[in-house]
Amino acid sequence: GRLSPQMQDAIRRRQALLGPAYRLMYANPVEIQRASGVHMYDAAGNEYLDAYNNVASVGHCHPRVVADVHRQMQTLCTHTRYVQDGILDFAADILPTFGAPIEHIMFTCSGSEANDLAVRIAKHHTGKNGVIITSEAYHGNSELTSGFSPSLGRGSRLGVFVRRISAPDSYRMDPAEIGRQLAAEVAREIAELERRGDGIAAFIADSLFSSDGIYSHPVDVLGPVAEVVRAAGGLFIADEVQAGFGRSGDRLWGYQRHGIAPDMVTMGKPMGNGYPVAAVAMAPHAIRSFGADTRYFNTYGGNSVAIAAAQSVFNVIRDEKLMENAARIGAKIKDGLKALAAKDGRIGDVRGTGLYIGAEFVKADGGKTPDSATALAVVDGLRQRRVLISATGYHANTLKIRPPLVFSDADVDRLLTQLEDTLRSV
Ligand code: PMP
Repeated sequence: GRLSPQMQDAIRRRQALLGPAYRLMYANPVEIQRASGVHMYDAAGNEYLDAYNNVASVGHCHPRVVADVHRQMQTLCTHTRYVQDGILDFAADILPTFGAPIEHIMFTCSGSEANDLAVRIAKHHTGKNGVIITSEAYHGNSELTSGFSPSLGRGSRLGVFVRRISAPDSYRMDPAEIGRQLAAEVAREIAELERRGDGIAAFIADSLFSSDGIYSHPVDVLGPVAEVVRAAGGLFIADEVQAGFGRSGDRLWGYQRHGIAPDMVTMGKPMGNGYPVAAVAMAPHAIRSFGADTRYFNTYGGNSVAIAAAQSVFNVIRDEKLMENAARIGAKIKDGLKALAAKDGRIGDVRGTGLYIGAEFVKADGGKTPDSATALAVVDGLRQRRVLISATGYHANTLKIRPPLVFSDADVDRLLTQLEDTLRSV
């Protein structure tokens, strides 16, 4: 259908004021005015089911987080060059969740900044330059991180020290071989980086491979990679911006599903439930020389209110048992999608863990050929039914279902009912 005159006007205004680099979601964009829990509301009061936002991870405008942030904002909001208990208490709470060898945590304002800092630290520690990533990775929007975020599109040039390996495509590769194959690719890229005199500073990966197309299984693919990276003297950075804070339903941190012990862990997005707060946690060996040679200051990173938000979210995930909810509810969504896929050949694969689920659309040619058009039509069809999701992967043919962790049984029913209805009409 055609866009309303008001929407056309709003889109024109956006383009005029914000310029050409921003993108809206959906053919019929949604104008949002407020949100609560798993629901978002437009100006006319229509309610949308949010099955996409992993930032509002404990639910939009969670009352406890809002109260904790508000109270701290009324008390003190300043930076990390004063002694404050809050930041130490939070660090002491979160650090034991990573396991050895992680012992320190440094705060930034965004996931991009966290990855930027982690790679700077890795370059300093190793004296090398190379960064190895998966094929369609996204790690950030800074000058450095956009150079290893190929999913940004052709406008984002790969950095000269950046090498790519395959994503663990469990739908097309032999699951028993993926770990070995990825490790062999990493070894080849390290040899190439060494031949050029750059060497490897770090391997960095999102353990749910979100922008690659969501690959949650098998969970043994990162182990062999970590061994090869370590043997070459590189650091392993686990980018937990998407996979962290219980989203996998399985472990608090996605890398723990793979049984590996990274040198650094970066996190962001859900950490403050929308308040900007992100961090890099690291092993002492990784930060030692950087700390000796460089001082670190980030005006807003780790400020009193950011820490209050992070502490509050951390408490809510624990007290409301949201990781357990993600496991139970996520399994229910996955089962529902598998039942739909059994009846509908257009859905070639259903995968994911906890509340991070993908459903891949393929053509009827038997060749697992990506079907982007159908996935896009389903995303837009669901939006017309006021259920919000998106699509991911190089071909954007995989539905990306990633709701707040407070998703309920009734929400699953609504999502699946609307999806089934959408599939009938597409
Ligand atoms: N890493 C991953 C895996 C991400 O998904 C993102 C954000 N989409 C980032 C890093 C960057 O985080 P931010 O947008 O907070 O800079």
